[in-house]
Formats: sequence, C-alpha cells, structure tokens
Amino acid sequence: MGKKYVYVWNKNRVEGNSKMKDILGGKGANLAEMASLGLPVPPGFTISTEVCKYYWDNGRKFPEDLKSIVEEAMTELENVTGKKFGDNKNPLLVSVRSGAAVSMPGMMDTILNLGLNDESVEGLAKLTNNERFAWDSYRRFIQMFGDVALGIDHEKFEEALNEVKREKGVKQDLELDANDLKKVVELYKKLYKEEGKEFPQDPMKQLWIAIEAVFGSWNNPRAIKYRQINEMDKQGLLGTAVNVVAMVFGNMGEDSGTGVAFTRDPNTGEKKYYGEFLTNAQGEDVVAGIRTPKSLDELKSINPKTYNQLLELMDKLEKHFRDMQDIEFTVEKGQLYMLQTRNGKRTAAAAVKIAVDMVKEGLINKEEAVMRVKPADIEKLLHPLFDPEELKNAQYIGKGLPASPGAATGKIVFSADDAEKLAKDGEKVILARPETSPEDVGGMNVAEGILTSRGGMTSHAAVVARGMGKTAVVGAEDIVIDLKNKVIKSNGVELKEGDWISIDGNEGKVYAGKIKTVRPEGLAGDISELLEYADEVSVLGVRANADIPRDAKVAREFGAQGIGLCRTEHMFFGPERINKMRTMIVSKTEEQRKAALEELLPFQRSDFKGLFEEMEGFSVTIRLLDPPLHEFVPESDEQIKEVAEMIGISEDELRSTVKDLEEFNPMMGHRGVRLAITYPEIAEMQTKAIILAAIDMIKEGKRVQPEIMIPLVGNVKELTILKESIKQIADELIKENNVDLEYKIGTMIEVPRACVVADQIGAEADFFSFGTNDLTQLGLGFSRDDYGKFIGDYIEKGIYEKDPFQQIDREGVGRLIKLALDGGRSTNPKLKVGICGEHGGDPDSIEFAHLVGLDYVSCSPYRVPVARLAAAQAAVNYKRGKTVNY
Ligand code: PEP
Ligand code: MG
Repeated sequence: MGKKYVYVWNKNRVEGNSKMKDILGGKGANLAEMASLGLPVPPGFTISTEVCKYYWDNGRKFPEDLKSIVEEAMTELENVTGKKFGDNKNPLLVSVRSGAAVSMPGMMDTILNLGLNDESVEGLAKLTNNERFAWDSYRRFIQMFGDVALGIDHEKFEEALNEVKREKGVKQDLELDANDLKKVVELYKKLYKEEGKEFPQDPMKQLWIAIEAVFGSWNNPRAIKYRQINEMDKQGLLGTAVNVVAMVFGNMGEDSGTGVAFTRDPNTGEKKYYGEFLTNAQGEDVVAGIRTPKSLDELKSINPKTYNQLLELMDKLEKHFRDMQDIEFTVEKGQLYMLQTRNGKRTAAAAVKIAVDMVKEGLINKEEAVMRVKPADIEKLLHPLFDPEELKNAQYIGKGLPASPGAATGKIVFSADDAEKLAKDGEKVILARPETSPEDVGGMNVAEGILTSRGGMTSHAAVVARGMGKTAVVGAEDIVIDLKNKVIKSNGVELKEGDWISIDGNEGKVYAGKIKTVRPEGLAGDISELLEYADEVSVLGVRANADIPRDAKVAREFGAQGIGLCRTEHMFFGPERINKMRTMIVSKTEEQRKAALEELLPFQRSDFKGLFEEMEGFSVTIRLLDPPLHEFVPESDEQIKEVAEMIGISEDELRSTVKDLEEFNPMMGHRGVRLAITYPEIAEMQTKAIILAAIDMIKEGKRVQPEIMIPLVGNVKELTILKESIKQIADELIKENNVDLEYKIGTMIEVPRACVVADQIGAEADFFSFGTNDLTQLGLGFSRDDYGKFIGDYIEKGIYEKDPFQQIDREGVGRLIKLALDGGRSTNPKLKVGICGEHGGDPDSIEFAHLVGLDYVSCSPYRVPVARLAAAQAAVNYKRGKTVNY
C-alpha cells in the first residue's frame, strides 16, 4: 500500500484530527476533530493535500489507486447516511470543499448539492415533500458547477435568474416558486449549451470533475496572488485538500438556515457571541454578501433551542481549541450541524483583547498570549484616526458597518484594476464596490481603504480587509455605488471617480472629501498589558532613538527602556542655533571655533537634561556629532551674508570656505569620529554638555545614566584618543562638582573594519551599538541615498530577499555583527551590545538580534511597541529550539 490519501469521519470512526492540518487542511482536520468530540458534524472524508501536490507535480494526474479509494469512501458514506449516490428515491448529495493548511478565505472553490440530476431532483422533492427546495438546490448546483468547475461566467447565471425574476415581477430569489426554479434550471442548461459545455447527469462524473476543479483552483490566479500577498509561499504548503461532506440543507424552509458565528466579537474582541445567519439559505449566500444577514441574536427568538445548543457547542470548541473560533453552521429543519470551525480572523484590536482576556480567564499563559498577536497588528493599532478638528467640518454622506478599523482617505476608484494602476503612480485610493470578490484582492491590497454598499461583517470585503489591516466600511446600504456611471450617490451628494472620499472604519461613517489623519497617542489598556507580558518574556531590551525630549516622552509612553541613540546633530537646526553652528564650522581659527562652541554649550546642556529627565532611571546614549559638516554650511545668499557678518569675514571668503568643505563622497568623508579627530573641541564641548546636564540631574536628586557614544570608529586608536579626552573632561567636572556620577564610553560599530578588529575595540569600550544603516551601506557597498534605483531589480531577481536597509541581511551584515560580537566579548565579557540602525524596529532583524545574543535594540519611538512584541516572540521561538540562520 502506498500513501494514505483519504481520511474519513463518521459516527463509526474518525481517522484524522486537528493536528493534521498539513495533510488534511484546516477544514478537514477540524471537521475530524469535531467529529471525535461528538459534535453534530455531517459525515464525510478528506482527500489529502498530498494528492494536490501529486496532481500538480504529475501534469495534473491523480495517483492511480485514488479512484477506487474515493469510491470506497463514497460507499462508506452511503452506508452511514443510508442514502445512495445518484439514487432517484433517496439520493445522497455531497458538498465538495477546498481547504488548505492555512486559511485562504474565498480563494478556492466549493461546490454544493453535488449528486443532483434530472432524476434525483424529483426523488429529493418527493422525499422531502418540498419541491421548491429540491429545485432550488438543483439550480444552485448547476450554477456553482458551471461557474466553478467549467468556468462559465457567474454573471451569466445571475442574468438568467434575474430574467425569471423580472418576468414574475419579484426582487428576491425567495419569491420564486418551484415552477419558476424549473424555468431557471432550463435557462441554465441552455446557457451550458451556448457555452459549448455539457452538464453531466452522472453523479460520479460530477464528483470527479468537482474534485479536479478544487485541486485545480489551488493554482488559480487569485489564489496565487493571495499567497503572494500573505507571504505564504515559504510555508511549504502542499496544496489544498478536498473535503467531500454529506449535504445538510439550510434551504429547507423557514425552520432551516445557515450562518457564521464567532465565539468572541472579531472586531472588538469582546467576549460575546457574535454572528450572522440567513433563514432558508445555503452557506454561500452568507459569505457572498448577496443577502444582508440577520444578527445571531435574532436566532434566539426564532429558534431558542437551536440557539442555546449552538452557544453550548461554541463554548466547547473555544475551550477545546483555546482560541476564538469562527464557526459555520447549518440548521436543517431545526437540527443543528457544525460545518466548520477554525481560529477566527480578527482585527488587531480584537487580537490584543482576546489574548489578554484569555490570560485573565486562565485559558492561555502569557507566552501564548504574546504569540497570538502579530507585530504588524500592534503597528495597526497605532494607525491613524481622523483629525478631530477637520472632522467637525467634514461632509457626512452615509453609514455602513465598521468592518475593519482605522481611518482612510483617498481618491475614489471603482475597480481593483484602477486601484492598482493609480496606486502604482503613488495615488491614495479608496476602492468602492457594491461588494467585493476574490478577484479584487490585488486592488484591496493597494487601496487605503474599502467601501462596499452590500454585505455584512462576514462578507468577503470585511474578512479580507480585516486580515490585511485595511480600513473598511461595508454594507453601506444607503450609499449607491454605481459602477456603470462611476459615481457614488448618497443623501443628495454625488461623487465621481477621482473625487476624494474618507471612510472611518471604527464607526462605519463615510465622508465626502479629504480629511487629515492623525496618529493616536500612547498605548491603550489591553495593548499596554500585552506588552507588559511581552517584557516579562523578552530577553532583549528595547530602547528608542530619540533626539528631543518630546520624542523621548513618546518613547517612554510606548515602553522604551532608555535611549539607544540620540543623534546630536539634529539638535543644531533650531533658529537660534544654526547660525552659531555655521559660525563654528567656517571658523578659521581654533579660538573662533571655541567661542562659537561655547555659545552652543548651554543649548546642548539643556537638551540633554531634557532627555535625561524624560528617561530618568534609564540609560541614555548620546552620540557625538556625526554628519559631514557641509550639511550645516550656509547655502543661500542671505545665509552667507548673515554668517559672514557674524564672523566678520567677506562673503567671498565665506563662499570659498564653504566650497572647501564640499566632498565627492560625503558619506565616506569627513564625518563621525573623523570630525572629532580633526576638531577635538567639538567633542569636548559635547562631553561637557552631557556631563554637566547629568550633574544637574544628580544635584536635583534624580537618577541618570549617561552613555557617550563615538560614531564611525574603524580603528581602535580613534577610540583611545577620544576616550582619553572625554575621560579627562568628565572626571574633572565630576570632581569639581563633587558628585557621584557614573558614565560609560562606547562606540558605534558601523564600519566593516571595526567588526574585524572588534577585539581591540572591545577592550577599550563599555558598549557597542551596531549602526546597521552604515554597516549595510559599507558592508554591501550600497549607497544609502542611491540604492533605491536598483534594489527593486535585486529583490525581483532574488539576489536579496528583502530590502537590506529594512531587514538585516543575515548572511552578510549578520555575519559581520556576529564577528564583532565575538571579538568584542572576547576581550570584554561585560560589553553591552545593541543595534540602533533602522533594523532595530524590524521584527525579523529583532529576532536576529535575539538569536545572536545582543542586549537590546533601539528604534524610533513609534516602533517601540512592535519591537517589544517582536523581542518577546523571538524569546519564545528561540526557546522552542530555533537556531541562528545566516
Ligand atoms: C547607523 O548607521 O545605523 C546609525 C544608526 O547612524 P546614522 O543612521 O545616523 O548614520
Ligand atoms: Mg551611522
């Protein structure tokens, strides 16, 4: 016997379980698990994802013995249901559903009511004593089969259905009776003929075509695109599984129905049952957003017994899977069936709330909680809101459901293609559609937000937008989205394609025009709690890059444990300072320069004091002046005039000095420690300012931990020269003021040579901070300012997987870091080491920092929350045995 290809579940036996998602897909694995738990699940079997892989690897052929194995499973299904496939008295009908290991909502194909043909439809009508139901099921099957398995345009079926509705003068499908539906079936069959296709009457034939269609759908363009967008290609997925399940019917009348339910609110995370259902309908109607469903609460009044049973089963499933569940159910004549359960997709806010609540409920521990939230979710929560001031005067045009939070403003487009075209040109767009379908995913991905006029909270638009973290307002029923004329009409307002529109995904409100967005301040309760768990779990510390007290304050509110980089050059640009700085730079003599520096000192001293105060009790790393001096020199005639007057030289003389400062390659020119080597007085002034500010703190009884950092060191002698002068000045000031102050002197490691001689540098330094921006620039030889021109080609051709300035190039720069770390720690085991380049806020780079054993990362204040979570996740994953991957 070869591989096992088919796994059955029924009342007699269950072969799979929830741990087998890789081969059974999420749906199949959980159906088996629910069957094992004794839940009411219709019987069926799963054809494994390995068959899908085989099918694609072997030129779209199936394993030889599959046919007989599937036939056996069908016989078993007939036996347990007591029905017969293709029978004209008591026919077995099945659904054929896709289901990969990772959920891809709506991306692949599903066919319901399979097994019906011209004879069995009569059998079904007699058996159920419900002719309308039988013909409704049949017309649905012919439609789905034609669309999904044979590629006949879905719209053409809709048109045929509409023709019958028009003839009868009705609007809803439900108003059609059995005779009308028979007419629909006739029109559908005619359509098949017109399209040159044949509707197979033989159920076995139907089954195989359907199975093949589902496996084939694994590589349809929209599924491929979905996997690309969600970076699923690296997950080693084998393909989709195919689930063949005995049909249960939600369209058997008013005592039947179908719905989707969540064990908690997927939008807010609140612990309350949440869901939608439609009476007398089949599953696809809910998800497709064709009819607007009722809330789950209404089921309570319609059928309290089923409602209570459903809640009981939902509780059971949530406890069992220890996560919020997203359930599909069907009620057939009052009898409840569970058709699917999976961990529910949720908004970022809900992910955080659910994780924190479940810790409090004792359902999961803190480590599990931090793994339940994606770092990108945290980023989303710091997403913009509309500026309250601008909102006051905004023109409100209507309301829909708040399907996915955030605030978005953009130009209206009516098709996913247009969204992609405009976004490519750098335009911000809002995609407006009556409803969305899986074809629209590319456009949704590039849009700022999505607006639909139909569908509920579980419609395609809502589910996909939430997953993408896009703002969405759906089911805005009083807004007319007219695709043909490309206009939106609502409350007397008419907006054309290209006009600005703003949507609020928190409240579901829609406004005409452009509204400024603002970022929320600080961290709200649940996030802050989750990040506290994260800090408990983490090994890495997270600091912030902040140059001014205001940024330091934000960083503290976001939980930064100190400042890892203060770029002091940013402090010289204020109006009172810049001319003093310019004077200092163009000074001809040391005296002149010292005099100008003397005037800058009080500013620096109070700046540093401000930072120390905001970060009281934490380390504050202040870097000595780094950029090339030409960045500060006067440029305009007016500036030249002003500065020439200040220092008493002619304008021409000043122009020639400025010219002298020009460099061919400033990034590798006279900057960083090289400035301090040439002009020691600059570093001296900065040292004084740092130490005096720290002394001010101590005199006020406050705690302070200054760290002086020297940039761009490549040779240990640069460090020793600077260190001596810093120590001398600092120790003298400390002595003079008679205070007890500890300070540290360290270096940035951002020149490849420094990595190689890190043992020498480590022996002299208290700490290393990797300047991964420069280390990437110099390590790869890619100019930080010019690499944008070619990096796209490099990524496209797979030379680098990601932009190496965003995510550490582990195998190159990563090895330099490891080399430096080993060298530095070999001579100085107490060496403290961090990263302060942009990579300090990137989750993948943070994982790398954790893996190689750094002490901290430092990033911009707004990335601190993300970094805290990423650091915790790295710690959890690392314990699980992940090894360094260069
Ligand atoms: C770096 O090079 O990574 C760094 C932090 O310094 P800067 O970006 O200021 O050059
Ligand atoms: Mg640098």
